Amino acid sequence: MPSVSSKDFRVAIVGGGLCGLACAVGLAKRGIHSDVFETAPKFDEVGAGVGLGPNALRALKGLGLLDAILARTEEAQQTARRMLYVSGLGAHETVYDYETSSVFTEADDGIGIYRPAFLDAVMHLLPDTSRTHFNKRCTSISTTESGTHCIHFADGTTHEADLVIGADGIKSVSRSAVELNPEKRRLQFTNTVAYRGLVPITTLRQEGTTTEFDTRLCSFIGIDKHIIAFPIQSGKIVNIVAFVTDFSVPLGSVEVTGPWVEAVPHQELLDKYDDWGHDVMAMIKHMKSPSKWSIHMLTPLESFVRGKLALVGDAAHAMAPHLGAGVGQGFEDVFVLCKLLGHPSTNLSNLEAVLKAYDAIRQPRANMVLKESYRAGVVYENFGKPGYSTGDQIRGHLTGIWEPIWRHDLDADVAAAVASLKEHGFPVVTD
Ligand SMILES: Cc1cc2nc3c(=O)[nH]c(=O)nc-3n(C[C@H](O)[C@H](O)[C@H](O)COP(=O)(O)OP(=O)(O)OC[C@H]3O[C@@H](n4cnc5c(N)ncnc54)[C@H](O)[C@@H]3O)c2cc1C
Repeated sequence: MPSVSSKDFRVAIVGGGLCGLACAVGLAKRGIHSDVFETAPKFDEVGAGVGLGPNALRALKGLGLLDAILARTEEAQQTARRMLYVSGLGAHETVYDYETSSVFTEADDGIGIYRPAFLDAVMHLLPDTSRTHFNKRCTSISTTESGTHCIHFADGTTHEADLVIGADGIKSVSRSAVELNPEKRRLQFTNTVAYRGLVPITTLRQEGTTTEFDTRLCSFIGIDKHIIAFPIQSGKIVNIVAFVTDFSVPLGSVEVTGPWVEAVPHQELLDKYDDWGHDVMAMIKHMKSPSKWSIHMLTPLESFVRGKLALVGDAAHAMAPHLGAGVGQGFEDVFVLCKLLGHPSTNLSNLEAVLKAYDAIRQPRANMVLKESYRAGVVYENFGKPGYSTGDQIRGHLTGIWEPIWRHDLDADVAAAVASLKEHGFPVVTD
């Protein structure tokens, strides 16, 4: 890796989660140095699984990260997106089997992965030219008279950069520097809580379960609740997320004033699902120390960019997790941004135009996925209600829900962005 950055602009990344780190690695692969500022004393991830759809995998591949990640995590693609929707009640009657539907193709495969292992793999791809700074909590970002950005930290220090990439997650501080109307309340509680837990597959088998937990992503659906279960760690562990929604209150009307994540007694979860079917009860029984997450999402931002400041990941488009698409959209952001920043014609003088092109591509798509993710939760948790009761009705709602997310041509996005830049005077140099 050359000791001098390939570009004439300095890059700072606020937030060292999966998207911030992927961005640092993606830039480094294009010879662009960056400084990463992370509020925590070390990089860390929640001890749970994450599902990555085919679009997320393509973005990681395009960034040059996927093979190294898969090699390091030793998690074969055990969790092809053989999505199965079953009733949460009774004998778990099949509602919709994505694999046997006419739309499924092998290209729709995805994976489930243990988050800490994933983060560890990305961390190991960070070159020395990406300087990491821990215990650096960004409190605000200002713009100097010369047009550079100045990041202010809680410890009283500052850092100046030509380009700041805000990757500081759902409670992003950098978002307020992008917002045209920073006073507007953007985060809304979805009235859904999620209980998370990991259970060994052997334990579920001993309980006499018949669901294909070790090879399929299963969604147990029902009224006001649903559960997502998928295998991680080569099929040995089942990652379980059990959702409960209060549809009696309007969306956005409740503000969660306490912590968004808390440990709760096992009994609380048992009480929520006490009348569900056998395989659900087997999962719930063994989620002995569940954590409860208050699920929030953003009301869509009008723009992910301001000046030479760009948002990626949850900072830009935190969404409900019902399509398992949040981090995948973040990786798409990172892919498009790294491709555009690494383009031979990109330099300090046209950086703002390049970021506008990034925004024009990413903002509509990520916000579409944000809206669809919320809608998916409503579909799953209305199963059994009028309009969602029969197999045909629910299949009607589920059909086509995945394809716009999974089957998207990111290279075409980048080509369109470069073409529009050329129309506006971007020097014609081939990538
Ligand atoms: C229950 C649940 C299940 C989910 N399942 C899936 C799934 O299966 N598939 C999927 O694609 N997505 C899923 N998601 C969404 C996914 O977790 C997020 O989209 C993803 O973690 C966002 O990554 P990020 O890097 O943008 O933000 P984060 O992971 O939140 O990282 C932000 C980083 O910035 C740091 N930071 C924060 N504030 C500051 C500051 N002021 N200064 C400096 N650093 C700061 C944080 O410490 C953190 O390291 C799920 C979410 C939930 C809640």
